[in-house]
Amino acid sequence: PVPTVAIIGRPNVGKSTLVNRLIGRREAVVEDVPGVTRDRVSYEANWNGRRFMVQDTGGWEPDAKGLQQSVARQAEVAMRTADAIIVVVDATVGATSVDEAVAKVLRRSKTPVILVANKVDDDRVESEAAALWSMGLGQPYSVSATHGRGTGDLLDQLLEVL
Ligand code: GDP
Ligand code: MG
Repeated sequence: PVPTVAIIGRPNVGKSTLVNRLIGRREAVVEDVPGVTRDRVSYEANWNGRRFMVQDTGGWEPDAKGLQQSVARQAEVAMRTADAIIVVVDATVGATSVDEAVAKVLRRSKTPVILVANKVDDDRVESEAAALWSMGLGQPYSVSATHGRGTGDLLDQLLEVL
């Protein structure tokens, strides 16, 4: 069986952009408007000769409470069904209350969790990325999904836990 990594996080943090990076193709839909990704879509990927599935998540609830519940639910589903979880945070924004709520769910995950600090397009954002250690999910992996910065290291780490 091919292992699956689920990509979760609140809307607009760059999940679909990261999915495209990880699979090396532009198949996941990236939008400036949140909520365009269907609930769960899987794509085949290959890194260093190993095959795995990358599952993008979407869904969108208009109010903040609904959003928190929906992202927390994605985390619960991922903990039950995926072999690894990548939780994406926008480093330029920092950890929001929704991100903190998801982290609280993920801290009790038996499924390995990798924290990604996305939108680290240049060195100036590294300190914001490092601040995400406070989420209690281990080392934040700095990446720029749009530029590809850091994604090789992320893929190496992913294959360590997958
Ligand atoms: P999703 O809702 O989490 O799937 O986020 P998307 O992948 O659709 O991206 C939302 C917005 O963030 C789009 O305008 C992307 O171009 C932008 N974005 C994604 N990754 C990065 C990044 O690494 N750096 C910057 N500057 N923008 C990004
Ligand atoms: Mg998306």
